[in-house]
Amino acid sequence: MAGTAALAAALATAACGSGSAQTTAAETGKPEVVAAFYPLQWLSEQVGGSDANVTVLTAPGVEPHDLELGIKQVTDIKNAALTVYIKGIQPAVDDAVEPDTSFDAATAVTTLPAGEDEHEHEHEHEGESEEEHAEHADVSYDPHIWLDPSRLATVATKLGERMAAADPAHAQGYRDRAAKTAATLTGLDQELSQGLTTCRSKTLVTAHEAFGYLADRYKLKQVGITLDPEMEPSPARLSEVAKLAKSEGVTTVFTESLVSPKVAEVLASQVGAKTAVLDPLESKPSGDYVSAMRDNLKTLQTALGCTA
Ligand SMILES: [Zn+2]
Repeated sequence: MAGTAALAAALATAACGSGSAQTTAAETGKPEVVAAFYPLQWLSEQVGGSDANVTVLTAPGVEPHDLELGIKQVTDIKNAALTVYIKGIQPAVDDAVEPDTSFDAATAVTTLPAGEDEHEHEHEHEGESEEEHAEHADVSYDPHIWLDPSRLATVATKLGERMAAADPAHAQGYRDRAAKTAATLTGLDQELSQGLTTCRSKTLVTAHEAFGYLADRYKLKQVGITLDPEMEPSPARLSEVAKLAKSEGVTTVFTESLVSPKVAEVLASQVGAKTAVLDPLESKPSGDYVSAMRDNLKTLQTALGCTA
């Protein structure tokens, strides 16, 4: 079996004409875990520890929605002991994963329905093939589950079980680290919960509608413009959100670093608000998942006028 895997890896390398020294399972003896994008990479590294070799499909600084996979990445997914992804974020990854060697984190938690306006915006998305279109429409839930640390804690526990099954010799290590990671996330959840209890406003206006789970968990109300940051919002949706933001006395429109702030700025100027960066953690932050969520908490407390 190891010989077959090594041969397949060698062939794949030869086929790509790549001279890169890719570390394979045969060389390190560690299972290869492929994470689709940052929060899943962070989680896989926490749970995998030194027992697993974790790589990520979405490079730092790249917006993961609509990621396209190269031949090498597809091969990495085929050869991986486990691919950790969330169905509905990246159609190319959804297509490439194998049922037996993949873990869809969305299956571990209770999901929320996608925003009501999603379909309307999908149809306005220019340059999208009908095939991709069908893929997007396929998912009826909001896939941004990692922005609720309590849900991510549940994912950590399930991921520990999946890694333990994939590498039984190190099962206890995966379970122990999963429990530790879940405890860290539960602590973070409590910090957010306490920090967002007493706020002047509970309305979260965002350009990219990524914070549904955060809003759900901490009893905030997300008013987002679009689920996919690459989509152009319709003027009708923009004016609808502007009207709502005005009536609720919103002081801040949230934007994010990987997406053009144009839409948020237009909206903010219409309602006399300012903009602030709230990180949806779709790409690696300067710190890690936990420190970036603490930064998000501070940003929210300032913008919403919370006292804690
Ligand atoms: Zn997103």
